[in-house]
Amino acid sequence: MRALPTPVVPRLDGPSGDGRRTPTASVVLRSILDNGPIARSTVARLTGLSAAAVSRQYADLAELGLVRERPARTPRSSVGRPHVPVDIDTRRHLVCGVHIALLHCTYVLTDLRGRVLAEQRIPHRDPGPEAVLADIEATIAAFLDEHAGSRRPLGVGVATGGWVDPAHGTVVRHTQLGWSDVAIRDVLEARLGLPVRVESHSRALARAEQLIGVHRERARKSLVHLFVGNVVDAALATGGAVHHGPRSAAGDVGHLPVGSGSLLGPTVCGCGRTGCVQATVADRAVARHATMAGLLPRPVFADLLTALETGDRDVRMLFRDRARLVGRAVALLLDVINPEVLVVTEAGVVRDPDLLAELRGEVAERSHVCTDPERTVVASSFGSRALGVAAGSIMLDATYARPLDLRPQPART
Ligand SMILES: [Zn+2]
Repeated sequence: MRALPTPVVPRLDGPSGDGRRTPTASVVLRSILDNGPIARSTVARLTGLSAAAVSRQYADLAELGLVRERPARTPRSSVGRPHVPVDIDTRRHLVCGVHIALLHCTYVLTDLRGRVLAEQRIPHRDPGPEAVLADIEATIAAFLDEHAGSRRPLGVGVATGGWVDPAHGTVVRHTQLGWSDVAIRDVLEARLGLPVRVESHSRALARAEQLIGVHRERARKSLVHLFVGNVVDAALATGGAVHHGPRSAAGDVGHLPVGSGSLLGPTVCGCGRTGCVQATVADRAVARHATMAGLLPRPVFADLLTALETGDRDVRMLFRDRARLVGRAVALLLDVINPEVLVVTEAGVVRDPDLLAELRGEVAERSHVCTDPERTVVASSFGSRALGVAAGSIMLDATYARPLDLRPQPART
C-alpha cells in the first residue's frame, strides 16, 4: 500500500480559525488537567492569565464539554460568592487508542484524564497492512458500540513500533511487520469518519508521560523514553516537545551495543554485528532463549510473562539479565542526553520493582553522568497498559494542544 499525497502540516495542528485564543485555551485546559478540581482564580494565578481571560476560556471549554464545575465545598455560612472549583469533564468524551504490535492489536478507550474505560487485545489474522487496517476498522466500530455509551469519540490514536511519520500519518518502515509506506491515517479516517493520528509508540509513550504521567513535571523539562519489546526504540523530548528530526526518524536505538549478558547473547543482529540491544533483548529473542534453556515448551513471550508473574525463579533470572542489558543501553542514553528523567517501558520492570532495581544497578556502574539512578530512571507510569494508554494519548495530546478545534467548523464557501 503506498502513501497517498498528504499535506505537510498535520490537520489538527493547522489554523483553528482562532489562532490567537487557541493557545490560551490549551494553557487553561492543561492547568485544569494538572490541578483540578481547582478554582478559576487559582488557574489565573498559576498561568499568569487575567481572571477575565480564564473565565472566557473556561466558558468556551465548558461549551465544548471539556470542563465542568464541581460541587463547591465552601460552607453555607461563608460570606460572598463561593469559589466553585472546576475540573476536566470526563463524562462527555472519550478517545480511542490502537497499538499495532507484531502479533496483535490492543484497543483501549480512555476518558479525558487518560483513564482506561475498556481494553481489548485481538491477534492479527494476517499481519499484512490491508488485513490489519480492515480489522482495526471493524473492531473500532464494534468496540465503540459496546463501550462508548453516551460519550462522544474525539478520534483515534494509532501507535506502532518502527519508523512512523506523524505529519503524513504513515508507517514509513516497520521491519518486523514487513510494512513500508502504509498510509494509516488517510485509510482509517476515510473508513471511520473520525480524526485519526498516527505516532511511533515510543514518542506516544513519551507524550503520555508528559501529559498525564506520574513524573510529568520533570518529563516536561527533558525526557528520554526507552521502549523494550519486540522493537527497541527511544523518544527524546526537551522543553515540552518531542524531537522528531528529518522524516521523524529519531529514536532508532535498536543497534546500541550492549554486548551479552550472563544468559542472553551473544546474538547476531540483522545488521551483521553482534551485541546490538534489540537483537539481544527483544521479546522474541528472550522467549527463544527460554525455550532453548528448557524453561518454556514454546517460544511465546506471553507465556514467559505468566511464568514471571507466578514466581518462576529461572524465568526471573532471565528477566534480571535482560534488565541488566537494558541498563547498559540506558546508561549510554543518559550520558549522551542527560535528561531530567528516563522512563523505561519493559514488561519486567513495569511489573517487578526488583527488576527496576537491577536495571538501575547497571546504570550506576556504567553511566558517567547519572549520579542518582533511583530518581532519574523510572518505570512507565502506565504499567502493563502502557501501550494502549499511549495510543489513546496521541488523541488526548491533540485535544489538549488545540481544544477549540473541537468547535464545529463554519461551512466553507
Ligand atoms: Zn544491529
